[in-house]
Amino acid sequence: MDILVSGAGMAGLSAAVNLGARGHRVTIVERSSHFRVNGSPIDVRGDAIEIVDKMGLLPQILAQRVDMTEQGQFVNGDGEVVARLPLEETSDSADDIEIAREDLARILADALPADATVIFQDSVSSLADNGDGVDVRFVSGREAGYDLVVGADGLHSAVRRLAFGPERDYIRHLGFYIAIADLPDEQPRADRVNPVYNYPEHMVSVMRYKDKALGVFLFRSDPIEYDYHDLDAQKQILADAFAGHSEWRIPALIEAARVDPELYFDSAAQIHMPAWHRGRVVLVGDAAHAASGLSGRGTSIAFTGTHILAEELENCAGDHATAFPRYETRQRPYADFAQHSIHGGAELVVPATWEAIHARNERIAAASR
Ligand SMILES: Cc1cc2nc3c(=O)[nH]c(=O)nc-3n(C[C@H](O)[C@H](O)[C@H](O)COP(=O)(O)OP(=O)(O)OC[C@H]3O[C@@H](n4cnc5c(N)ncnc54)[C@H](O)[C@@H]3O)c2cc1C
Repeated sequence: MDILVSGAGMAGLSAAVNLGARGHRVTIVERSSHFRVNGSPIDVRGDAIEIVDKMGLLPQILAQRVDMTEQGQFVNGDGEVVARLPLEETSDSADDIEIAREDLARILADALPADATVIFQDSVSSLADNGDGVDVRFVSGREAGYDLVVGADGLHSAVRRLAFGPERDYIRHLGFYIAIADLPDEQPRADRVNPVYNYPEHMVSVMRYKDKALGVFLFRSDPIEYDYHDLDAQKQILADAFAGHSEWRIPALIEAARVDPELYFDSAAQIHMPAWHRGRVVLVGDAAHAASGLSGRGTSIAFTGTHILAEELENCAGDHATAFPRYETRQRPYADFAQHSIHGGAELVVPATWEAIHARNERIAAASR
């Protein structure tokens, strides 16, 4: 079949690899001008490990595994350490493989079938299911027909909006925002620590892995209206959220975010949908069931879902009307588990009051004594 995959994130690339391996001709359309490979290292865990093994990618992934034994240290406004975070508090699974987003994206992109087409800087603007296929119009004006369309375009999916209705019907805001900035000038540190500074409802930290460093920002907020495609607006929201705070390294880290052309900024949010398929259109990854970064499972469930989808299309000899519900039945438990695995995370990393910050630090300091 001719299959259009919208989005070249982990879900889109994994969908293309799995579908291509079963003989389908895959076109990927990605809104960005390149594979978006920045962001903090991500976990491949649980059943997703078996799936990347079936995809033939486990050796490459293991070879690029990152050792995340840097220790989280909570610091005060002067940078003095007030509590050291035991590793058990940051990793909830003994069997996870941590890998840099850029390395995982490269491994998946290298595994794309030779006849896969990747179109950058374009996006679906309309979809019409004509019964025998889907007529697609792109923002560029191009038009094409596909047997199936896979929406892998993330939390703010365009395919979901076009085929299932507005985002507000499905999104659950978890009450805070996250931003991740590259810190190209950060010096490596031999003591391998990741400092974390909190003031009420806010967190700023430096995360190191391999030879890289990232500035990570969290702040609590009600939903904010902004254009997801307007990076300058996102940088302004971030700067406003931390305005008036010059303690620790906040001004320098906000400045690093301001000059980062690839800054990652989004709400911590989940997507809950009663169905992930309609006609010849099906959703995978965050577009279908975002669990938020707090779950640490977004990429893993993107892998399970895309593998199951390709497998069910094969089991049903391409009959999407049978395969899509079967995909959904098998994938639901993974999505539900991930979406329920977030509790307590916000209280640990971005407490709401000074009392809660001190109580957390006390608890952690006592535990490590
Ligand atoms: C740049 C970036 C950095 C991230 N960093 C982190 C992180 O540090 N920690 C964390 O927990 N999670 C992070 N995530 C989210 C995490 O990667 C996902 O939760 C998980 O991997 C599932 O991926 P996905 O492919 O479903 O969604 P995403 O990773 O969001 O990928 C969606 C892809 O679709 C593209 N896209 C969006 N809209 C359109 C459109 N209309 N047409 C075509 N393409 C479109 C996007 O550019 C992106 O490449 C990041 C996502 C991105 C895009």
